[in-house]
Amino acid sequence: MFTRISSQRLPYLRRALLEWYDQNRRDLPWRNTRDPYRIWVSEIMLQQTRVAAVLPRYGKFLQRFPSTEKLASARVASVLAEWSGLGYYRRARNLHAAAKVIMHEFAGKFPDHSDEWRKLPGIGRYTAAAIASISLEEPVAVLDGNVDRVLRRLLHSASSSQSLKAAQELLDRTRPGDFNQAIMELGATVCLPGEPLCSRCPVSSFCRTRGPGELRSSKPRQRKLSVAVALVIRGDSVFLVQRAGGERLMSGMWELPRVDSPAHDREILFTVRHSITVTNYLVSVVVRPGAASLKGKWIKKSKLDRLALTGLTKKILRKANIIEERGPHVARTQEPVRRKTNGSSGSRGTRPAI
Ligand code: SF4
Repeated sequence: MFTRISSQRLPYLRRALLEWYDQNRRDLPWRNTRDPYRIWVSEIMLQQTRVAAVLPRYGKFLQRFPSTEKLASARVASVLAEWSGLGYYRRARNLHAAAKVIMHEFAGKFPDHSDEWRKLPGIGRYTAAAIASISLEEPVAVLDGNVDRVLRRLLHSASSSQSLKAAQELLDRTRPGDFNQAIMELGATVCLPGEPLCSRCPVSSFCRTRGPGELRSSKPRQRKLSVAVALVIRGDSVFLVQRAGGERLMSGMWELPRVDSPAHDREILFTVRHSITVTNYLVSVVVRPGAASLKGKWIKKSKLDRLALTGLTKKILRKANIIEERGPHVARTQEPVRRKTNGSSGSRGTRPAI
C-alpha cells in the first residue's frame, strides 16, 4: 500500500474529496465540457501559468481556433499571435504541430488512450493523464507539483518518488477525471505551498501532517536586470525585429530592437517593468532612430494586432498608445501554478527573451 491508508478507509477519503469538489470547485470554462480539444487547449495553457492569466485568453483562443481542423490549418504565426502574452511559446508551437498530426496522421480523430496522447508533440505524462481521465474517464492518475505536495503532506512522505504510485492507488475509478481535478483543486485552493488551510480541508482526518511539514515553499531569488529597447516610428509604421527561428525562447516572434543603455535620461521616453520567471526587468524605451538600420521591418500599426509580438513588446506598444489596451484586467491570485515535478523551465543559455 503506497498510501499507507487501509483499503477500508480509502473509499471514505475518495468520497470526502469528491463531495468537497462537487460543492466547492471553481466554475472554470474548461470544467463544463468533456470535449478533448477544449480540455487539451486548457491543459496546455495552464502549464506554468495561473488560472487568472489563462481565463481571458482561453475563450479568445477557442473563438479564433474553434477546432483541431482550424488550428491545424492556421499559420504558426497566427497561433503565436493569439498566444502572445501567455509566455512559454514552445507550448503554442507544439499545440499547432500536434493538431497537424491529429488531422494528417489520425484522420482528425483524437487518441483514445493516454499512451497515444503522449505520442503527440508537447504532451507529457501529466497532460496525457489529465486529458484522458477528464475526456475519456480513463482511470489514470495525474501528478503535477500541486498533487505531489498534497500527497506528500497527506501521507507524510519524504520524497516524490512514491507519489505517482500513491496517486494511482488513491484514484477513484468511477470518476477518475473529477477525482484528478479534485486533488488538483485541493492543492490550488486549500493545501497551499506556504501555509495550508487545514481547517478547511475535507481530508484532514486522513492527513498525517496537517501543516506545511517540510514542504513550506521558499520563493526563488529574483534577479534584477536593466535593458533598453528603441521605439522607432515612421509615419504609420513601427520598426520591429524578428527573433531568429533557432532561438530557444520565443523564436520567430517580433519585438522592438534591443539597444545599448541610454547615455542620458532625456533619451528615455518611458520605462516599464516586466518579469519573466526569476528575472525582473527594468526596460528603458528610448528614441534611437539609428536602430532602424538593424535587420528588421517597418510594420504598419494597423497590422500589429495580427502579428506574433512578445509580451513585453505588447506592453510597450500599449503604453505608447500604439495598440489598444487589453480587455478586462484579471487580478492575480495566490493560486499556485501547475509545475512539472521533475524540473523547471526557467530561462537558460540564450539571450533572455522578454
Ligand atoms: S490537512 Fe492540511 S496539510 Fe493535510 S492535506 Fe489537508 S490542507 Fe494539506
